[in-house]
Parts: sequence; C-alpha cells; structure tokens
Amino acid sequence: MVTGIGELVTCDGTGPDGLGLRTHAALVVEDGRVAWVGAAASAPAADRVVDVDGRAVLPGFVDSHAHLVFAGDRGAEFSARMAGTRYDGGGIGVSVAATRSASDDELRLLLADRVAEMRAQGTTTVEVKSGYGLTVEDEARALRLAAEFTSETTFLGAHVVPPEYAADRAAYLDLVTGPMLEAAAPHARWVDVFCEPHSAHAFTADEARAVLVAGRDAGLGLRVHGNQLGPGPGVQLAVELGAASVDHCTHLSDTDVDALAGASETTVATLLPGVEFSTRSPYPDAAGLLRAGVSIALATDCNPGTCYSSSMPFVIALAVREMGLTPGQAVHAATAGSAKSLRRTDIGRIAEGARADLAVLDAPSHVHLSYRAGVPIARTLELR
Ligand SMILES: [Zn+2]
Repeated sequence: MVTGIGELVTCDGTGPDGLGLRTHAALVVEDGRVAWVGAAASAPAADRVVDVDGRAVLPGFVDSHAHLVFAGDRGAEFSARMAGTRYDGGGIGVSVAATRSASDDELRLLLADRVAEMRAQGTTTVEVKSGYGLTVEDEARALRLAAEFTSETTFLGAHVVPPEYAADRAAYLDLVTGPMLEAAAPHARWVDVFCEPHSAHAFTADEARAVLVAGRDAGLGLRVHGNQLGPGPGVQLAVELGAASVDHCTHLSDTDVDALAGASETTVATLLPGVEFSTRSPYPDAAGLLRAGVSIALATDCNPGTCYSSSMPFVIALAVREMGLTPGQAVHAATAGSAKSLRRTDIGRIAEGARADLAVLDAPSHVHLSYRAGVPIARTLELR
C-alpha cells in the first residue's frame, strides 16, 4: 500500500483538466497492478506500507516519442545551430555512421543508460524508434535491441534517405517497404516516417504514404513525423490513414487543426517542445489545439540531433511556459494523452486494473513540475 499521498493525480477524466485529483489518498498494488484506490482513512490492510509523507503521486510519464538507439555525439552541431546554422535534417547522417559502427553491446549499454535516466525522472513507458541504421541489418538490430527495453518499438527506416541512396530515392523506398520492413516487423509494434518536404533528406507525401501503407499491410500501427519544419502534408496523411499519432505539429494550418479535431478519437497530435527549444523554433499553440478539440500528447523526442533531453518534467515546463498549457493540462498530456497516442489504457492513469506505473514528486502537487522548472523533483516510485 502506498499511503500518505498528499495529492493523487489519477487522470480519470474528472475535475479540472481531467486530472481526477484526490487528497489524503492511498492505493494498493498487487502483482504490478493497482488493486484499490481511495481515501487513506478507509484503506484496507496491506502486507507492506510505503508512506510518501504528503508527496504528490501521479501516473508515471509516458514518453511516446524517443530515438534512443544511437551512438556518437552531436554537441558540435548543437553549438553551431545556436551560433546561427539552420537545421535541415542533414545531421542525422552523422548518427547513422556512428550507430552502424557500434557493437550490439555498445548500443545496449547506451540504451540501458538512457532508459535508466528516464526512469530517474519519472518516466515508466518509453517508445523507442529505429532510424539510425538505415540498412536491413542495422534497422532490424536497432529494433531487436529496443525490444529488450520496451514493447513500444517503432520501425523508422524512413527517417532520412541515407547518402548512398541520394541519387536513387526510389530504390531506397523499395528497400524500406520491402526487405527492410520484412526484417524489422517482427521486432516492431509501429511504423513511422519523417514526412517533410522542407528537408531534402526526408520524405514527400507520396513516399510517406507508400511507407505507411506497407507498414500497415505488415500489421504495424501508424505514426508520422509531420509539419515540423514548415507547413506540409503530414497531418492530413496521418488523419486520412488513421495513424495513432502525428508528431511535432509545429506548423499547422486551420485545415490541419480541423482535421485533427475531427479525428480526436483516432489520431493524437504529439507535441515535442524540447525540439523547438533545441532548434530555436517557434512553438505550436497547444492551448489553441485543446480549445479546438484536438487530442494532444507531450513527449521528449529524445534524440542526438534536435533534442538531447530525456526529461518529461522539462517538456512539461516548456509546454506550460511556451505553448500556453496550464500545469494540469501539461501533466495530462504527458500521461493520459501520450498513453492514448500509444492506444494504451493500462498506463497513463491510476485506476483499479491499470499498471502500477507510478511517479512521485518531492512536492505537494503536480503544479510544481512546471513551477519548479529544472529542479529534479520527479522520480519513478519503485515498489519492488
Ligand atoms: Zn522524432
């Protein structure tokens, strides 16, 4: 039993921002699941009691967009960008070269460190994409390693066109939708594509459609990187194909917003404000999306190029400060919202039957996640 909970954020859809707040609460965990939630005063007997002494407890963060299988360092690229060099997606090639030359054990250690870093900040579920291998063997390897750490694995062979195929994009598309998909699919739950006509390295609407349709035919769920560097077709394509999530959504037209609002039960707009921060780009209007009826999620996009932060609390603070969300809306988007983008109901909320994936704050309320930005108050509540 976890007791002494000053504020319990259940995300049950009730009350302000759907946070379902309870005070002076307790909960009982059995076999990794929540077995009971209620007032501490009426809690049943339990074998073991963990008293969190007035702290806030919330669902562990669901980081529904991350690229954790990579080697190498791109600090110099970040530094150059902060000195004025524009981001165009080209730096991905640097990570591809370093990742291809790393051993399985090196990549496994890097992955383990990154997942541990996330847990230490309150993240209990992370989606991990491939996309720095870009050969049949290297993409399958990235997904096989990622699957050792999470069930939310995503095939992103269509991250960029690798340099060796720059003169023959069609051949790379055939590879991604053919042998590479076949090798990747057994280790992946999702397929994703960087649909971005503003980058010469990424994929057009027609190319992205081919990747998504092939992935769907192979039994994978759909996710899209869309509308990051400028207005584009990513959102419309995601909605049309019933993708679970379209991610970035930095540049949206009114038509895009209408389409997302109409598809709010199917397609979630996943916002990645760490990317706007790390590329010094304008932030999307998350508050406006919520007012329009769009389902939103927050995730880190942790990756070596455009956001090397694994911190969901940092993302929550940015979403509040820069995208107009209230502290409660941001917490909801980082838990229940991102769970919805993974089509999961067993995570991102605290309810009887849900996984006992919990985060605890060295603070009395969820507001402190953005109020005390940059202070390490969040961690996973380890009960084993
Ligand atoms: Zn990404």
